Amino acid sequence: MYNERMRKLGEERSDIRELFEYGLQRKKIVGNENVFDFSIGNPGVPAPKCVQDEAERLVREMPAVALHGYSSAPGLPEVRAAVANYIQTAFGAEMRPDLVYMTCGASASLTVTLNAVLHEGDEVAVFAPFFPEYRVFVERAGGTLVVVPTDAKFHIDVKKVAPYIGKRTKAVLLNSPNNPSGAVYSEGEIEALAALLKEKSKERGEPILLLADEPYRELTYGAKVPYVMNFYAHSVVLYSFSKSLSLAGERIGYIAVSPKCAEAEELFSAVCGAGRALGFVCAPVLFQRVVAVCLGKSSDVGEYKKNRDILYHALKEYGYECISPEGAFYLFVKALEPEAKKFCERAKKYELLLVPSDSFGVGGYVRISYCVERSVIRRSLPAFKALIEEYRK
Ligand code: PLP
Repeated sequence: MYNERMRKLGEERSDIRELFEYGLQRKKIVGNENVFDFSIGNPGVPAPKCVQDEAERLVREMPAVALHGYSSAPGLPEVRAAVANYIQTAFGAEMRPDLVYMTCGASASLTVTLNAVLHEGDEVAVFAPFFPEYRVFVERAGGTLVVVPTDAKFHIDVKKVAPYIGKRTKAVLLNSPNNPSGAVYSEGEIEALAALLKEKSKERGEPILLLADEPYRELTYGAKVPYVMNFYAHSVVLYSFSKSLSLAGERIGYIAVSPKCAEAEELFSAVCGAGRALGFVCAPVLFQRVVAVCLGKSSDVGEYKKNRDILYHALKEYGYECISPEGAFYLFVKALEPEAKKFCERAKKYELLLVPSDSFGVGGYVRISYCVERSVIRRSLPAFKALIEEYRK
């Protein structure tokens, strides 16, 4: 009747979705303003003006048939050209329109690319903590997820990475700025990782790919996000406009294969093949056109920074352990007892909805999505204070 693996996947909702649904129910019972829902990474700052201006202009001026019709499978040629041109000018990396594939957000960028490159049993190394859906995407594409530990500040310690990269490693999947830690990996870290991958690729007899999942690239608080293509030839950038332009519901992003990748054209054909096999062709056309004129723009990061600062300073003052995020919009906080899930259950008593870190590949932490309205953050502070006081009693 159905695929048992898919049924299980459908029924066991992610911790994040589970908590989000719980929050909706709870709001009906105790009132919206009394629930502090930090579960989901839904951008709370409006898209920049260029988005609405261009969307309105297109709807007003473009003939409906062209506006709503198919594009070619990898996207509109002029949009792919605009993306390639942006990558060249903004990051100084070589790029060509024929190596750009427009997709439905980062999730599609990830599944398409993983299906394009993996064979059964191939390993994909990810740094902990990581976005939980990586496991689902990698395993569905036939691969095995290998979790690589990071240092105490959730940064890459290349000495720790080496033992996790072996003959079966097909790719390293990198996410910076990181969900959920907020870490932004430095040039030094990327350089060291690139050197290790070069060496390990020789041992493997085939280049190991570096896949950079970058939906938060523009959302940083001063840190520079190195462009992986400038450090390592065999790189593929998986981009999404969901967070940078607050367009999570529009499902739009792209895959950019570095022209320096070994067999770049063939690899791109495999991306097209995977897009076809998975049904991710012809990304939403209206939003292909919109993002083409908003490349490099972002929602007001200053708003997220204010949220970060209020929350971070208050939590530190109360006695919580956490690191000020360098980017994205998540605060990763040490739970007040060894089991994060138990801590999150206790936090619910105070209507605080926090995501336990277990599915992110590390235990003992919680993730707080602070991309919410400022008033939610302010109103939640007494609850955080009461929670830590309960543990001190
Ligand atoms: N990758 C990371 C690191 C994310 O945090 C998310 C969403 O939260 C995604 C991918 C999926 O993004 P999209 O909504 O563009 O599919």
